[in-house]
Amino acid sequence: MDKINRRTFLASAAAAALVSSQPLHAQEPAPTTPDAALKMLMDGNARFDANNLTSIAHDLKMLRENTVEKQQPFAAVLSCADSRVPVELVFDQTIGHIFVCRVAGNIINSEIIGSLEYGAAVLGVKVLLVMGHSNCGAVKAAIAKTDVPGQIASLYTHLEPAVEAGSGLVDTIKKNAKIQASLLETTSTVLSPMIKEGKLKIRAAYYDVGTGQVTLL
Ligand SMILES: [Zn+2]
Repeated sequence: MDKINRRTFLASAAAAALVSSQPLHAQEPAPTTPDAALKMLMDGNARFDANNLTSIAHDLKMLRENTVEKQQPFAAVLSCADSRVPVELVFDQTIGHIFVCRVAGNIINSEIIGSLEYGAAVLGVKVLLVMGHSNCGAVKAAIAKTDVPGQIASLYTHLEPAVEAGSGLVDTIKKNAKIQASLLETTSTVLSPMIKEGKLKIRAAYYDVGTGQVTLL
């Protein structure tokens, strides 16, 4: 082995050792209760916040081994379509772990409810977060009743209850997450009984795009 090849070999061996010595959170058994599922999400957000991501090292391995034929996500998240809210990254989770629905303003409608019902009843997620975020353009526009082209204004109808109840942008965003979460809980004939039986928890949350922190509301 010449000098350069040897150096390359040692560097890649060191990198491999580094990867394998990281905590294998992606290999941990799936949480079996809503509280454990919520904790796994929030622990991931703490790692994200501390710039200590572990999920990326597992992506290819997970893909190859586990997720071709099936998915078993432990959590579902309804978040805004905003490009600053990459859900898996924010919770330091990898492929196959979170069932994600994204729509501007993180609002619910029949299709979103249907998707989340599928996540809970068929895939068995234990916790469902409805997550608003700081500086949400959809909420901002709904408050200002900005004149918008096409069907953008169709979002306003869903955001109106929060706009009426809220005072200021942050409060309105938080109220919207809570309103959508409670609408989901009360209108879904699939989710309500699961919550009553303790199989599922629905929580509203707020993601700060500046700090990276998720707060439960
Ligand atoms: Zn938004």
